[in-house]
Amino acid sequence: SDHALSYPSAPAHFDWDTHYPAFAGSGKTPEFADIGCGFGGLLIALAPLFPETLMLGMEIRVQVSQYVHDRIVALRSTNPAPPDSPTPGPYQNVSIVRANSMKFMPNYFPKHSLSALFFLFPDPHFKARKHKARIISPTLLAEYAYILRPGGIVYTITDVRDLHDWMRTHLEQFPLFEPVSEQELRDEGKGAIVDAVYTSTEEGKKVERNKGEKWLACFRRIEVTRD
Ligand code: SAM
Repeated sequence: SDHALSYPSAPAHFDWDTHYPAFAGSGKTPEFADIGCGFGGLLIALAPLFPETLMLGMEIRVQVSQYVHDRIVALRSTNPAPPDSPTPGPYQNVSIVRANSMKFMPNYFPKHSLSALFFLFPDPHFKARKHKARIISPTLLAEYAYILRPGGIVYTITDVRDLHDWMRTHLEQFPLFEPVSEQELRDEGKGAIVDAVYTSTEEGKKVERNKGEKWLACFRRIEVTRD
């Protein structure tokens, strides 16, 4: 249950400076969001590759989110910025919140602020009566379209074929998203992101050990001028 969780009433009321002290006063908010980030493998892989891009993980489990928090604190302290460096050290751009992402995502992320939204190996919720607990649904897609900037990418990957079909179908049917192939993303210079999506997370590594298949589906938030 998330009864004990408190949420910011709006992104402007969230204390981003505490999460990203090296970027305090920059006015930056996260551009990459990893939803249900688990142990944080994606964020840790991407943080050094995009040192100026703020990234936030959301994770509902207390101990897991604490683990990721501690992991980031340790990485920051063992990788200080070189003296006189004009840029912050690595991992200053990555943080985590314990939150139920199915509630109040727009309370964290301003409209059109995200360039990438990740759903990596989400819980499948196999039984039909539990499908409403899935992280992709028409209601939630409207929120994701609101917080993603036009041109921003939703990355999904799973080893569960049925969940892959579910996520892909819902995203295809939603008017503000269009499919984008893995090759197109690589051609646009997002190959390192795609590689991290496949291999960097703890769940992704587990699927590899078990020789399972991975199903990737990515979508672009379409550009519309009327909003
Ligand atoms: N993405 C990670 C990976 O690939 O290793 C973790 C995958 S794990 C199967 C799914 C994660 O989503 C779990 O850590 C779970 O606690 C988290 N989760 C499930 N529902 C959530 C919610 N409503 N809000 C935030 N996190 C959630």
